Amino acid sequence: MSPGFSHLIETIPSSGIRRFFDLVASSKDVISLGVGEPDFPTPWPAREEAISSIEQGLTSYTSNSGLIECRRAIAAYIEERFGATYGPEKEIIITNGVSEGVDITLRTLLNPGDEVIVPEPNYVCYAPLIQLAGGKVVAIDTSQTGFLPNKQAIKSAITAKTKAIILCSPNNPTGQVIPKKILKDIADLAENHDFWVIADEIYAELSYDEPFVSFAALEGTFPRTILMNGFSKAFAMTGWRLGYLCAPQEFIARALKIHQYSALCAPIMAQYAAIQALQGMKVVQDMRRSYEMRRNLFVGRLNEMGLDTAMPKGAFYCFPSIQKTGLSSEEFALKLLEKARVAVVPGSVFGLGGEGYVRCCYATHIDLLKEALTRISNFLKKR
Ligand code: PLP
Repeated sequence: MSPGFSHLIETIPSSGIRRFFDLVASSKDVISLGVGEPDFPTPWPAREEAISSIEQGLTSYTSNSGLIECRRAIAAYIEERFGATYGPEKEIIITNGVSEGVDITLRTLLNPGDEVIVPEPNYVCYAPLIQLAGGKVVAIDTSQTGFLPNKQAIKSAITAKTKAIILCSPNNPTGQVIPKKILKDIADLAENHDFWVIADEIYAELSYDEPFVSFAALEGTFPRTILMNGFSKAFAMTGWRLGYLCAPQEFIARALKIHQYSALCAPIMAQYAAIQALQGMKVVQDMRRSYEMRRNLFVGRLNEMGLDTAMPKGAFYCFPSIQKTGLSSEEFALKLLEKARVAVVPGSVFGLGGEGYVRCCYATHIDLLKEALTRISNFLKKR
């Protein structure tokens, strides 16, 4: 017998998405609408810049916060694109993806028993990382309010122990975008009840119908906002592991203590690639247009075949209701995989309100999307 493990780790389930995809990996001829990843490779100029940095022997650690040139480029980018202003010297840390950003943010903020409000369905890493940081998840079900958090529901969840709320907009898995009016309501609640707002805006560039409004750009939100963003999605750089945290200096100085011991810094070649990637916004817009075209086709067809699907306003996911089939989301996903060889993610893995839905990622080649639609339609007819 081994000497045992942390009690906390025993309370954390392994990722429902990963569990499902281990199953997919062992099946043949499957069209995967599962993993949330661009189907484009990283644009060539960013790859070339990384190659060039390696050729020049630039292979060292960087400062813990990241290369100052990269932080400057990020500060200029978020100011220009989203109107949020952060100083590159003391208000930005470059992290190993937004994933690390979420982890160190929670560990920087939470004391044992502190509560974090999480509107759900939501991205799968928040709840376990809150628990690992000693906090308590207070989930709100958004499925009855268009998959958007509302003021009343948040208000009812606030207690004396509320330390933060996590917002993910555009949302994974629903694709919904929190409108400015609701963001303002949340900003007022945060100020009146004195809690932090952790804004995961990793899909900000992938906003289709209206210009994206960053929580960090709203007046008066700066002192209690932690803005998270990164290169994985909009810049098609998932494998480079690059994200960033922007927040007041008092937060950044503390978060840096965890980052410097647990990660030291983000990879230097990825940081050089990112500086270059930020010069190439046209290709980001081209990719966005391509996702938008696929969204329109895919969601339109799902609705035609009777899987009611709200039009997602951002990211590259849609969240069709499978309630009419009478199956649970896990049963539906397993049967669809087995009978139609199409992989989707059961909505139940995304928390409260996710049951009755499945997540489909449409960042998949258009020919495969069309074939997946045919297979789903045949599957529904044969049932
Ligand atoms: N936040 C959200 C909402 C995501 O959907 C993902 C990845 O799917 C991440 C964060 C993790 O991103 P990264 O690759 O930057 O760690």
